Amino acid sequence: MDKERKIKEHNLKAQERALAREREAHHNDVLKLAKQDLKKPKVAPKGAFISLKNINKIYPNHVQAVYDFNLDIKPNEFIVFVGPSGCGKSTTLRMVAGLEDITYGDLYMDGKYANNLLPKDRQIGMVFQSYALYPHMTVYENMAFALVVKHIKKDEIDRRVKEAARILQIEEYLSRKPNALSGGQCQRVALGRAICADSKLLLMDEPLSNLDAKLRVTMRSEIVKLHEAMGKTTIYVTHDQTEAMTMATRIVVMSKGYVQQIGTPEEIFNKPANLFVATFVGSPSMNLLDAKNVKDSLVLEDGHILAMEKGFNNKINEFYANEIEFTKKEIEGWKDTLLDREHGSKAYSHMISNGQLRKDKFKSYVNKLDDLVLVRLKDNKESILNRILKLEHSEEMIKQFDVILRNYLYEMNKTTNPGIVKVLEKLGQLIACSKEEEKKLTLGIRPEHIIKEETKTKESFELNVSLSELLGSEYFVHFNYSGIDLVAKMPVSNKISNGDKVIFSFDKNRIHIFDPVTKKRVL
Ligand code: ADP
Repeated sequence: MDKERKIKEHNLKAQERALAREREAHHNDVLKLAKQDLKKPKVAPKGAFISLKNINKIYPNHVQAVYDFNLDIKPNEFIVFVGPSGCGKSTTLRMVAGLEDITYGDLYMDGKYANNLLPKDRQIGMVFQSYALYPHMTVYENMAFALVVKHIKKDEIDRRVKEAARILQIEEYLSRKPNALSGGQCQRVALGRAICADSKLLLMDEPLSNLDAKLRVTMRSEIVKLHEAMGKTTIYVTHDQTEAMTMATRIVVMSKGYVQQIGTPEEIFNKPANLFVATFVGSPSMNLLDAKNVKDSLVLEDGHILAMEKGFNNKINEFYANEIEFTKKEIEGWKDTLLDREHGSKAYSHMISNGQLRKDKFKSYVNKLDDLVLVRLKDNKESILNRILKLEHSEEMIKQFDVILRNYLYEMNKTTNPGIVKVLEKLGQLIACSKEEEKKLTLGIRPEHIIKEETKTKESFELNVSLSELLGSEYFVHFNYSGIDLVAKMPVSNKISNGDKVIFSFDKNRIHIFDPVTKKRVL
């Protein structure tokens, strides 16, 4: 038992070391790119007030907090970065503020290349979660402090502080010290300080997190009104999707350092780009059900059939064809960076004659390769490559294997590259899906789009309520549907109690379809 544990620990440590090496290699590549990139001319994109181009952040401890962040912000926009804790929102905001270096990528502010601008030269006002007010200064002095440091004339300071205090309705507290103010008032002073600075850009990092629920709602609308009145370009960071939906002109949804979707609140809600966005935005979360498409209909796990519009099946096939093309291009993209490794190209040359792949050698090589790949992918009984091979033997795929193989050769001779393995695996799964007559899909339906019906029809459901929660203006009604907790929002016109039998249907215009492999939106 002890021996087993030791082996496990040893393996875990080895994996960690391999991952650390992998990260370091990747980060060195990024740093090299960053160095080369500095030599390129920096031209600000037209029409954008703030522009983030391929922004990456790697902390010195090799944690990559942000990957390829791209966003153009127009003047007067209220942009909200939203996502779970640790997804890279604050890091991105701090790079815009100049409080963190940008590892790779370009930042433009007001037409200027801004990567190297000092924070004080960026004309920004910042509001943090902690109000960070000076306790020994009055509200007036707190708001005026940054202006005094900049040697702005006294009467100009007075004008700005009083104007900000008027907008924020804190005029009567100007002579008080922060400890004589409530949390909400302190946050207003912090806001006032940012406004006074006469900045062009307002940055806010979870400014309402320390306030109680009721005050948060009040402050939320105050900030929106303030933005409407002043029109200052704003970037606002929050983990709260309700704040994002109610405040933003555009939302950037992030997860694990990657941008998942950028769009207006309506776009994000009505057309979530993937399963992450679909379930992160909206409360209660979107219900997800396993389904398969049979011709132009969807069949749920219990055999329930939902007829969809004509051409539904074609649209799904189109999605897979596009995704396969897209993934192949992704693999092609590695060619330049990975293929010129000496060792790999030597082994590869055995299988090429006149620039063509020799199928006989190719297959025997794949078999040999399999063992090696298997070692690295212990959890997979069968190697990815073998699986792909079984699925597709066409000339066109052989050509594709040409690329895949070369990448595997790289794999064998160099370190494992989880990125490559993942994309190869994805390609295999996508091809498998595209060949299925009945494709497995994920059906998404929001609680508000489940409709209570009076009479049972072929497509409606009849289930017992497992839990009915009254929220004043509506019910959250839970059903146990094929082992899944299905939640519906229903009006309070009729009383709904636990155990009641309820007939309901899905609003078919509001059904979302996702692909379980890529997690992307299909329709
Ligand atoms: P969020 O604002 O979305 O909660 P952050 O931008 O603060 O996320 O953090 C993103 C990731 O970067 C996290 O994994 C976090 O642990 C890491 N991180 C943040 N600051 C540092 C730092 N100074 N050094 C190393 N890692 C950091």
